[in-house]
Amino acid sequence: MTSDQIWQPLVEELARRQRADRKAEFWLRDDDAVDPTPALDRLLDLTGEFAVPVTLAVIPALTDDKLVVRLDEAPHATVAIHGWAHRNHAPEDQKKQELGAHRPREAVLDDLARGLSHVTGLHGARAVPMLVPPWNRIDAGLVSDLGSIGFAALSVYGPPKPASLAVINSNVDIMDWHGTRGCRDHGLLVQAIIAQLQHAFDGGEPVGLLTHHLVHDESAWLFLERLFAVTAQTEACAWLPIRTLIGRSAGRGK
Ligand SMILES: [Zn+2]
Repeated sequence: MTSDQIWQPLVEELARRQRADRKAEFWLRDDDAVDPTPALDRLLDLTGEFAVPVTLAVIPALTDDKLVVRLDEAPHATVAIHGWAHRNHAPEDQKKQELGAHRPREAVLDDLARGLSHVTGLHGARAVPMLVPPWNRIDAGLVSDLGSIGFAALSVYGPPKPASLAVINSNVDIMDWHGTRGCRDHGLLVQAIIAQLQHAFDGGEPVGLLTHHLVHDESAWLFLERLFAVTAQTEACAWLPIRTLIGRSAGRGK
């Protein structure tokens, strides 16, 4: 299949939106930022070129002023709190978790409060009080306490579960973690985006694209460039800032 053939179904889906006078909504979350790197430059340049707002999930314990200075040049970037140190506390035979039930809840909540305070202290108004748990996992019993330590939103992966704070999940992960460890097949990703758009059309969540700039191969960069180009071609698309989504969710009383 040629690249045009791969993307044609999305072009057609967006044309249908345009005719129905409905917006196709997207947002972008990129995980594991710590320092300025050539890969981060590439992400910020690419998103900047297409005016796509990006939410960087930053690892609090590992980051400092260097990232602040870099992001001062990237007004389209927002930062969220990616756990505390991205450290696994689960036993070897379990899925990796920093925020699981393996430690006393006070210890986990202290880490998270410290992470929020550290990132907000560094980034000021660029920081949003949204928790992005490392490996997209958090003990369900901790979620109701996130509001009391200052978080307004939580972002994991997949269909959102009801919670006492806004839940703004990612739902299309471009990386093939268990296979090639590169970008997933572009045709499959286009199908996943269309399925999520159809779910959104029926009252579901917008497309939450998940990326990891530090491990992108050329195929991942190419996919993003094509997606941004296709979505820029029509008035029917909007790439939303995370604050818009959190505000909307709060407006629903969640
Ligand atoms: Zn991560």
